[in-house]
Amino acid sequence: MPARAVSPRSVVIVGGGVGGLAAGIRLAAAGHYVQLFERSGRLGGKLGSHAAAGFRWETGPSLLTLPAVFDDLLSLAGTSLAEACRPVRLPHTCRYHFADGSTFTTWDDPATTRAEVEALSPGSGPAWGRWGRRSARVWETAERTFFTGPIEDPRALLDRMRSPLDLVAIDPLPTLHQRAAATFSDPRLVQWACRYATYAGSDPWRVPATLGCIPHIEQSYGCWALLGGLATLAEALAAAATKLGVTLHTGTEVATLLADGPEGRLTGVRLASGEVVAADIVVANVDAAHLYADLLPDKGGQRRVRAAGRSTSGFVLLLGVEGRTEALDHHTVLFSSGYRQEFVDLAAGRPPADPTVYVCAADRTDPSAAPPGHESLFVLVNVPSADDPEAAWVGGRADAYAERVLGVLERRDLDLRRRIVHQEVITPAQLAARHRAVGGAIYGTSSNGRRAAFTRPSNRGRRPGLYVVGGSSHPGGGLPLVALSARIVADMVAADLAG
Ligand SMILES: Cc1cc2nc3c(=O)[nH]c(=O)nc-3n(C[C@H](O)[C@H](O)[C@H](O)COP(=O)(O)OP(=O)(O)OC[C@H]3O[C@@H](n4cnc5c(N)ncnc54)[C@H](O)[C@@H]3O)c2cc1C
Repeated sequence: MPARAVSPRSVVIVGGGVGGLAAGIRLAAAGHYVQLFERSGRLGGKLGSHAAAGFRWETGPSLLTLPAVFDDLLSLAGTSLAEACRPVRLPHTCRYHFADGSTFTTWDDPATTRAEVEALSPGSGPAWGRWGRRSARVWETAERTFFTGPIEDPRALLDRMRSPLDLVAIDPLPTLHQRAAATFSDPRLVQWACRYATYAGSDPWRVPATLGCIPHIEQSYGCWALLGGLATLAEALAAAATKLGVTLHTGTEVATLLADGPEGRLTGVRLASGEVVAADIVVANVDAAHLYADLLPDKGGQRRVRAAGRSTSGFVLLLGVEGRTEALDHHTVLFSSGYRQEFVDLAAGRPPADPTVYVCAADRTDPSAAPPGHESLFVLVNVPSADDPEAAWVGGRADAYAERVLGVLERRDLDLRRRIVHQEVITPAQLAARHRAVGGAIYGTSSNGRRAAFTRPSNRGRRPGLYVVGGSSHPGGGLPLVALSARIVADMVAADLAG
């Protein structure tokens, strides 16, 4: 348990995504009076699920990593991930199908995975080992330096480093593609490694090789599913927040942040209903682009959001399918033949003509996701975010792209079309509208470029009394990182109050 705040403050949290809920839990556990306002009718933000015709699909995250981050968070309410949800560590972390018809599976067991790599690409075992050791070193260094505190203060960052060599250990200079191409001679393994850029909605030809730490995270701490769906984590976080005394308001939009003069300290928020809620501290869990354009217009904040750039968006098919597709595991990736072209298309603002397709078949682990004799498939393709995602997907473009994705699967011998009994599409425009994800960006800001970590909006807001959590702020998107941003903010609030 954290020390109780010497002097409890009133806190308003804007947005009930994972970042907002996690911040609520931490600040209430520290003794503050916390109210959270979420504009939509449900909590969890992008972490959601959808049920229809007897099927259930994730509508956002389908893969949970670093469960210890959530254990740590839930322990503040006297519970754990295992007590509050039904976690399952997957025996296979992912199955990969390459365009040449070859395939390999990564297992929750390094020796078996290495044997699979050798079978796929004889002689690549040592390179796989080198990649794994580097991946572990990057994560172990980044975890205690970049992910435990804010990074805009270079002295504080240096204090968390054991030596200047830590800066080298996180592998920030080469791009992920350069590092992968220098490690593997087999282009399929280069493609495998490059895919991790997309976990941050970014481009392997532009992100630093630091993102190469993700395979270590998956292989050492596991890839997890939750029975009943990943969205049960949002319910668990909401229950923990309530238990700690957070007042959760859904269907309540915040229209403006209120400050004491143009440069002054925040004093609270005005709701869309016109009601004013006073607060000593405001934590924004909304996309930083929405924060600094609409809620607290601030040119400097807008510049910083623009400099960081938007992450990619996603085009999602929710399919209810009769029968069982043997080529699919719980997580399956079907790689395109031209990975470079895919990212050229994305950078040019075009949905890839020949996309890599990710499929989550949650029923492989949780039969309750589909009726007997059927499978529930969440199909995701990376597509660009856009200034106006609504305009980008009008005029039958969504239906045409859904057909393209199904065509890609068909060419890879996954002939789903004639077995589909239920089909829905989620476009970037819907992601933008549902979660106020500016441009439809899944992860908020991108990680492209060596300076991405430093240009991303800071957890310290641009006015006294304002703090920022969530995917568009440090340390970035993805469930565990978003939860870590809440820990950084809670520590920052405690330090500010103490200082
Ligand atoms: C299709 C998809 C697949 C993904 N896959 C994965 C995955 O497999 N693994 C993983 O770890 N991550 C994944 N992610 C990313 C992950 O979902 C996000 O990084 C994370 O959920 C973001 O949480 P957040 O708290 O930052 O923001 P959000 O979830 O966006 O929450 C922000 C909340 O603020 C609310 N809000 C906005 N404006 C206002 C306002 N003015 N007043 C009140 N409320 C407001 C919104 O309604 C929303 O609920 C995926 C995301 C998507 C969309």
